Amino acid sequence: MPRKPRNSVVVVGSSNTDMILRVGHVPRPGETLLGGEFSTAPGGKGANQAVAAARAGGRVALVARLGRDSLGDAALAGFRREGMDVSRVVRDGARPSGVALIFVGADGENSIGVAGGANQRLSPGDVAAAGRLIGRARVVLLQLETPLETVKAAARLARRAGADVILNPAPALALPDALLRQVSLLTPNETEASLLTGVRVTGAPSAARAARALLARGVRTVIVTLGAKGALVATRDGARVVPGFRVKAVDTTAAGDVFNGALAVRLAEGRPLLEAVRFAHAAAALSVTRPGAQPSIPTRREIRALLRR
Ligand code: ADP
Repeated sequence: MPRKPRNSVVVVGSSNTDMILRVGHVPRPGETLLGGEFSTAPGGKGANQAVAAARAGGRVALVARLGRDSLGDAALAGFRREGMDVSRVVRDGARPSGVALIFVGADGENSIGVAGGANQRLSPGDVAAAGRLIGRARVVLLQLETPLETVKAAARLARRAGADVILNPAPALALPDALLRQVSLLTPNETEASLLTGVRVTGAPSAARAARALLARGVRTVIVTLGAKGALVATRDGARVVPGFRVKAVDTTAAGDVFNGALAVRLAEGRPLLEAVRFAHAAAALSVTRPGAQPSIPTRREIRALLRR
């Protein structure tokens, strides 16, 4: 087996550009609103998690598809600035880069439409072409914003190469047991845990019930994130709540992405599960104290400073 660098993480997933319009209220069907502040920001669950892993100290490669357009150029330049390996970021001539159109009302309410574009064409072939990178990874981190066939191919290849597979099942989708059996660690939030199991998850006791159902389907470890309440960590040996950090939240966008990226790095470094969860909590807590998705993602130095406090 090839030598695996101590902190190596491969993320297979989506990249979008978020186009955000802040308005008084989310427009109703047929309504046109004048005014409001417009901004764009890099996003997409795969890219967010990869950036979080890179800033948390990981040696990160991203496997993704961008269009051959200016949004794709900007996204790629951003990944390079984070020091990621982008050798398997494919530029797709047939579809544009992914875009999310987001209205945010004054009360924080939002309404979002996503055009997956090139993300929808990330293929099992792209995963196979990244075989050398995946062969050198300790952890492969996956989400569900790209085709399920691609996620399955990545999980299979990762396991064969001796890497741990973390699947963040977002956005939620019914998942086959054959995929769950390849997953070392599944990280749903409460909504996703509910959709995956049919158990209505609202807090730790119901999260533990959902986690047991997922363990029974072949996942090795389940972490149900519980927002400000922390996370429920469940293995066959039992379940426990790991509390998060108390902070003043201003914007929880991408909290889950930051949690997953940081968790992947700490596990790749060979740290015990509960210690990795605390590290991920610290990273995610810092991110919710700042506005935006990728701009809010903390560095390893900031994470360690919070952990020392
Ligand atoms: P998602 O963002 O996917 O909906 P959660 O809301 O469960 O996921 O949050 C993921 C993680 O982010 C939590 O486990 C926790 O570490 C952190 N987090 C989220 N909200 C807060 C908060 N208000 N205060 C502190 N940490 C938070």
